[in-house]
Amino acid sequence: MQYLDRANAGVKALSPYQAGKPIEELERELGIKNIIKLASNENPFGLPPSAKKAIQAQLDNLHLYPDSNGFYFKQAVAKKFGLQPEQITLGNGSNDLIELIAHTFASEQDEVIYSQYGFIVYPLISQALNARRVEIPAKNYGNDLPAFLKAITPNTKLIYIANPNNPTGSFSSAVEIADFLAQVPPQVIVALDEAYVEFTEPNERVDSFGLLAKYPNLIVCRTLSKAYGLAGLRIGYAISSTEIAGLLNRVRQPFNCNSLALAAATAAIQDDEFVAKVAENNRIGLQLLQNFFDEKGLRYVPSKGNFVMLDLQQPAAPIYQALLRKGVIVRPLAGYGLPNHLRISIGLPEENQRFLTELSDILGL
Ligand SMILES: *Cc1c(COP(=O)(O)O)cnc(C)c1O
Repeated sequence: MQYLDRANAGVKALSPYQAGKPIEELERELGIKNIIKLASNENPFGLPPSAKKAIQAQLDNLHLYPDSNGFYFKQAVAKKFGLQPEQITLGNGSNDLIELIAHTFASEQDEVIYSQYGFIVYPLISQALNARRVEIPAKNYGNDLPAFLKAITPNTKLIYIANPNNPTGSFSSAVEIADFLAQVPPQVIVALDEAYVEFTEPNERVDSFGLLAKYPNLIVCRTLSKAYGLAGLRIGYAISSTEIAGLLNRVRQPFNCNSLALAAATAAIQDDEFVAKVAENNRIGLQLLQNFFDEKGLRYVPSKGNFVMLDLQQPAAPIYQALLRKGVIVRPLAGYGLPNHLRISIGLPEENQRFLTELSDILGL
């Protein structure tokens, strides 16, 4: 019996996610120590101490199911941003929210629009649901929003936009996003994925929550995985109209966010000091890398995230391998159709320096 033929139509065309090896395993294989990982846009400072304390306080309650409604976390999010708790949907990471939105709105043959070089989860979930994937060619590696608008048809159900975008780091301005939303028909859902918003300068941010009043078709997705350092716990939140939140919450698994994640997120979301430190370190590290690339004549896409994408103008795989042998893990992007590119996450100052030293050595700079 071949079970491939029994799988749902959309699933047949999917290829499995290529996961990296654990660091300990790589150290053993390569016979080296002190590997640094600048590959997954994780927080180089680790868990905020405030979150660690909150987790410890939860350890005696782990035999109980989590609070399905995430009462305290929603209170904290609502208070921080001046929202109603009823506008919030919680996700097991924002990946879960991206999937929840697709399950809620997109069925077979519905059109889902997203960008070339957009976040890989958008085509993945659209394909799994056998929806029609409408991929818009990127412009300067970023979202070509006027082209998105031209691609909308009566069959369009959903649009995904990552801003800043991963893996390219490109950014659509507040004016571009507002212009775009003004032209999207109200029956089309727009999921604005702001996983890296905390790394953008406050004065250039899109007022995405403010836009909800005018555009009830908008859903804003945020995560605690990046600036808040909770990637391993898996928690994110979506903000929308209460009506859409109600729909998403019908589809959501009641216990999709675990107790430790909820406790940690409640503490972390209030920890402005931690996020300020993270953003400042990122600003300096990003500048260091981009200045270096400028100096050496290397091509890159100016980034607004906690990572930068380098265009090596030659196959990146051997350089990726050479970095790996020197104990520096970065992210190759051939799976995104970017075979000459590497994505480097911003780390601690000494990690950024080590990456530059090893890269210079490999490229003979
Ligand atoms: C990292 C990332 C996310 C968040 O993932 P989590 O599931 O919350 O860990 C969402 N969107 C984009 C574009 C990302 O890069």
